[in-house]
Amino acid sequence: MLTLKEIQKQLESRIFHIVGETADDMGYECYVVGGYVRDLFLERHSKDKDFVTVGSGIELAKAVAKRIGKGAHCSYFQNFGTAQVKYRADELEFVGARKESYRRDSRNPIVENGTLDDDLSRRDFTINAMAISLNAANYGELVDRFGGLDDLAAGVIRTPLDPDITFSDDPLRMFRAIRFATQLNFEIAPNTFEAIRRNAERIKILTRERIATELSKIMCSPMPSIGWKLLRDAGLLKIFLPELEAMAGVEVVNGRGHKDNFYHTMEVLDKVAAADTNCNEWLRWGALLHDIAKPQTKRYDEKAGWTFHNHNFVGAKMLPRIFRNLKLPLDERLKYVQKLVELHMRPIALVEEVTDSAIRRLIFEAGDDIDDLMILCRADITSKNPEKVRRHLENFEMVLEKMRIINEKDNLRNWQPPIDGNEIMAIFGIGQCRAVGEIKNYEKDQLLESETPNDRELALKLVLEKGASLGLTPTLRP
Ligand code: ATP
Ligand code: MG
Repeated sequence: MLTLKEIQKQLESRIFHIVGETADDMGYECYVVGGYVRDLFLERHSKDKDFVTVGSGIELAKAVAKRIGKGAHCSYFQNFGTAQVKYRADELEFVGARKESYRRDSRNPIVENGTLDDDLSRRDFTINAMAISLNAANYGELVDRFGGLDDLAAGVIRTPLDPDITFSDDPLRMFRAIRFATQLNFEIAPNTFEAIRRNAERIKILTRERIATELSKIMCSPMPSIGWKLLRDAGLLKIFLPELEAMAGVEVVNGRGHKDNFYHTMEVLDKVAAADTNCNEWLRWGALLHDIAKPQTKRYDEKAGWTFHNHNFVGAKMLPRIFRNLKLPLDERLKYVQKLVELHMRPIALVEEVTDSAIRRLIFEAGDDIDDLMILCRADITSKNPEKVRRHLENFEMVLEKMRIINEKDNLRNWQPPIDGNEIMAIFGIGQCRAVGEIKNYEKDQLLESETPNDRELALKLVLEKGASLGLTPTLRP
């Protein structure tokens, strides 16, 4: 963590002087505040710079834009009293110091002008409630009313005021607490965490979009499991994603138990996150939801023990409803997650019986997503028994290697059978109809079973064969 001295050096950047001098000219107190200050100490990249002034944020923003001159663009929201100046890569947010009071019966606060202290005390956490002065008289002076610096050093998330009030005023802060704990690998202070548990029901008044934004940040953290475990322990998970909550726990029949699928999922998710350093959020959702249908499909019988037949297919079918509830996108991203969930057991099944045709079929079905699927599958190998893990991984590597060889040879990634639908229609002199699809599927299936999926002669033979079985005769010899 940087010291205050080092921070003051960072504040030598021209933009802070421009803002400070402009505020001085207007006779306003002005501070850089919130996430930007926190991230400075943590040496974390911060996208936007937030400024608070004891005066009009909008007037200050306009004056700053004017002072910067060419290239600066100011926009503002009169109703909210906030303004933004864009200049090169910088996004500068301005707001006047405010005091907010909430009433139990309304979600919208009453906002009035306030002092810097009023403004800092309405912020969510002590680590987000620090400000650094930009006025010439005390440039670089830290204002830390709630021990934010100590909490930063100790790695603690704590509300500045009574946490029950903070969370009940704006329940989104409960998600934010867990999100920051996950991103920064911080602890949530015990009394702050207890207040989240007490106020959990209040999240019902939030829009799902706001929740989704926080979940997305949890997902893209280095160890997303921290967040999901906290969400569960705090009692939030069962409210907004009961399907995941249902995975927790172990049932024992006649002395035989199955894995705790929630904790297994957490392990898989973290392993995927470790392999996926650029954060493909949807691959991570695939990891989170790959076993989501295990509770529904769980059966016990004396011979087979615990089974979860077809949980991959049932799981893929559950996803549209889950995505709709969470306000996640219902487009090709949903389809991609469905594909991962549906196929997640195939590569492991190959370990037991690895034939070339089974590998070809998998490469064809996974298409461009095969690498992501393999990341998920490798992560899915978890067990308390290290010997078992080692053996599985070894087999898995063998499948990967075979896959590489076959793909090099047949280039199956974007494979299409050599004779397409148009050609089939021409060969038999028919228009679009069911037979065309049947013939094409037969051609595709048989080619993937064969050693030579790109062989045109073989493809033609198959097409004619299937056509004949459907009573069609070729009118054209291609
Ligand atoms: P990040 O930008 O990484 O999401 P941040 O802390 O900068 O983190 P912003 O949403 O940009 O978060 O908000 C900037 C600052 O505004 C916060 O640091 C905090 O002081 C305050 N803030 C934001 N949202 C809330 C909220 N719901 N309740 C109270 N204060 C908030
Ligand atoms: Mg921010």
